[in-house]
Amino acid sequence: MTGTITGATQVAGVVGSPVRLSLSPLIHNAWIAAAGIDAVYVAFAPRPDGLDALVQGLRGGVARGLNVTVPFKEAALALADEASPRARRAGAANLLVFNGDGTIFGDNTDGAGLMSALAVQAPRFDPAAAPAVVMGAGGAGRGAVTALLDAGAPAVRVVNRSRARAQGLADAFGARIELFDPSQSAAAVLGAGVVVNATTLGLEGQGDLPDFMAAAAPTLVVMDMVYRPLRTALLARAQARGLRTVDGLAMLIGQAAPSFEALFGRPPPPIDVRALALAAMDAAS
Ligand code: NAP
Repeated sequence: MTGTITGATQVAGVVGSPVRLSLSPLIHNAWIAAAGIDAVYVAFAPRPDGLDALVQGLRGGVARGLNVTVPFKEAALALADEASPRARRAGAANLLVFNGDGTIFGDNTDGAGLMSALAVQAPRFDPAAAPAVVMGAGGAGRGAVTALLDAGAPAVRVVNRSRARAQGLADAFGARIELFDPSQSAAAVLGAGVVVNATTLGLEGQGDLPDFMAAAAPTLVVMDMVYRPLRTALLARAQARGLRTVDGLAMLIGQAAPSFEALFGRPPPPIDVRALALAAMDAAS
């Protein structure tokens, strides 16, 4: 927001539940202010069945669109009139853009965020050089699989608690997917170039992933989508072995940048939103 809110101020936001601790408003409002755009980015937490009503109420007005987070990403894709191939392949939208004619375009920038985080924090990592491991087969896991396959990964080994969900992913993505149970995590990691945690394990109070570090090659890159805490137990174990690590905040900023561009028609200005986010996380802890 650049100053006074008027009837012409554009609105965008993030929808999720819970969403109170989301860093997206901080990041987008910092970019909005630095770019001098007359807009405001806010958080919405509808009831579990309230996404449709919220979206129908906002489309076609001053609202530019919404980022979408847990648990609404699959439902958001279903509300889109048109969707990008990457959103359709992930089966989930983390971005709804409200077009001027009232139609809604669904996209998924999570995979781009993942690849951006890898490029920033593990710059010499080559996704095409070795199989990748994705822990998790939910919306974020599917987005990661899409991005890694698109980046040329020779195989993606999916490790998931629920076999049925993992099988659904394998059916959708085809021959380059290999399935593993969590008890086989060490076997999945053998010879892999990257491990991505796309489960909720590692979040405060959610338990932890099985320890597969003994199977890790010294060149393994370990990425955790969880960013509360920023240094998860997984990343701490990887760092103790001298492995390269990539954190969930880098991915959050990586998915926010193309979202901002789609919402406001220009790339975000080059300000240090990571420092702002780290300060906010410190203040909240
Ligand atoms: P989701 O669709 O609910 O999927 C959750 C995944 O976690 C599933 O694979 C689920 O396995 C697994 N899981 C949950 N509890 C488990 C347990 N106790 N033991 C083993 N596995 C368990 O969620 P999502 O949207 O994919 O998000 C996953 C994580 O990624 C969340 O922590 C989210 O915050 C994070 N994320 C971060 C970013 C970022 O920008 N940093 C972006 C997107 C997502 P089952 O299939 O067996 O249930």
